[in-house]
Amino acid sequence: MGVHVTPHAERVASPALVLNADYRPLSYFPLSLWHWQAALKAVFLDKVTIVSEYDTEVRSPSLTVRLPSVIALRDYVRRPEYPAFTRFNLFLRDHFSCSYCGAKEDLTFDHVIPRAHGGQTSWTNISAACAPCNIRKGGRSPDEANMHPRRWPHRPTTHELNANGQLFPPNYLHESWRDYLYWDTELES
Ligand SMILES: [Zn+2]
Repeated sequence: MGVHVTPHAERVASPALVLNADYRPLSYFPLSLWHWQAALKAVFLDKVTIVSEYDTEVRSPSLTVRLPSVIALRDYVRRPEYPAFTRFNLFLRDHFSCSYCGAKEDLTFDHVIPRAHGGQTSWTNISAACAPCNIRKGGRSPDEANMHPRRWPHRPTTHELNANGQLFPPNYLHESWRDYLYWDTELES
């Protein structure tokens, strides 16, 4: 079945990049994007400034507006210094790769110090590991298995995760977003 790009489908696929009040993305990974309807609602509620627009228009009987492609929050959203301990954030800390061999597929989690040895389920004892490494290590400590994580697990800051997120740009980037993304990554690399 062929895919027909109708004006409606185009609008649905026109998300707005959301910047914080400092004009940096609210989030890099996943990239902070709002559906066009949410973006327009925020515009009408005066919660955001329109920074850039698509050519695409939406019409109502009384109004024609172009869809925003980049918006900035009027009020700065302060993020916590430390992110939540979640599976996603842990993978992001470890760059979605096995802490033992660097593999990027078949990822799971490893208690570096096994639970049977008193190892906690925490930022400082869980590493991303591929299933083969996880099975090979089994219930052994790093010394017993002679398998040491390339980097000992640590509690990341939100800043660190945000920097890691910049390493994973999404597949689709509208050209109007480019001024607000990844610049510092390019400068540093
Ligand atoms: Zn591995």
